Amino acid sequence: MIEIKGLYKSFGDLEVLKDIDLQVKKGEILVIIGPSGSGKSTLLRCLNYLEKPNSGIIRVNNTKIDSKNVKNEEIYSLRKESAMVFQNYNLFNNKTVMENITEALVVVRKMEKSKAIKIGEELLKKVGLIEKRDSYPNSLSGGQKQRVAIARAMALKPSVILFDEPTSALDPELVGEVLEVMRDLTKLDITSIIVTHEMEFAKDVADRVIFMDNGKIVEMGSPNEIFSNPSNERTKEFLRKVI
Ligand code: ATP
Ligand code: MG
Repeated sequence: MIEIKGLYKSFGDLEVLKDIDLQVKKGEILVIIGPSGSGKSTLLRCLNYLEKPNSGIIRVNNTKIDSKNVKNEEIYSLRKESAMVFQNYNLFNNKTVMENITEALVVVRKMEKSKAIKIGEELLKKVGLIEKRDSYPNSLSGGQKQRVAIARAMALKPSVILFDEPTSALDPELVGEVLEVMRDLTKLDITSIIVTHEMEFAKDVADRVIFMDNGKIVEMGSPNEIFSNPSNERTKEFLRKVI
């Protein structure tokens, strides 16, 4: 589970997150929508301390961090619980597909290489890329790269997975294959937060949707409430533009 309490984040004078409170239950799939610059990525980045909040408490399962008193072990433990998938894949371009997946298992988790490769093989089969195991990222399509990135995230068996617009850098015809892999993931018992502009997908997989604007959670509800019957004017306006 995830719990965020009183989260504030500024960059210089720019207040990007303003008193965010949010809870996500174990296994829940939460979709975040909202205009560009509203703070969606910053919120995800604060969740695993890629950005340090100015104030607030973040809890993922048994790891709780108060920004007033952060310990390195806590950050390490937070990152062990959660994996992140980025818009631009962030693969290691000098490593093969298989190495991308096994690297953290072998180096960080000290797993035996043969065991890590077994896990890599299983995951690559799952995302339909086993034949690319020895290829380098530069020779893959965007959709394939993103599927490798998802497999890499899954290899660490996170209890929480954070997706930041995983399909928005893709050519339209490649979006479907990535959404399909994500859809499979949502059937596992992993707590997920997905920032996306794919509204049909969001409607389909989300247990709950939040609309963010200007650093705040403006509205929160079931996919049906948010997409078919939003109550906030700003949500309505946003949806009019994107749907
Ligand atoms: P998008 O939909 O375009 O990805 P977003 O909702 O993810 O937008 P953020 O990336 O969280 O928005 O950015 C929120 C605000 O914070 C923006 O005004 C952005 O310019 C600013 N910002 C984000 N990261 C930094 C940074 N490292 N330094 C300074 N300003 C930043
Ligand atoms: Mg963003």
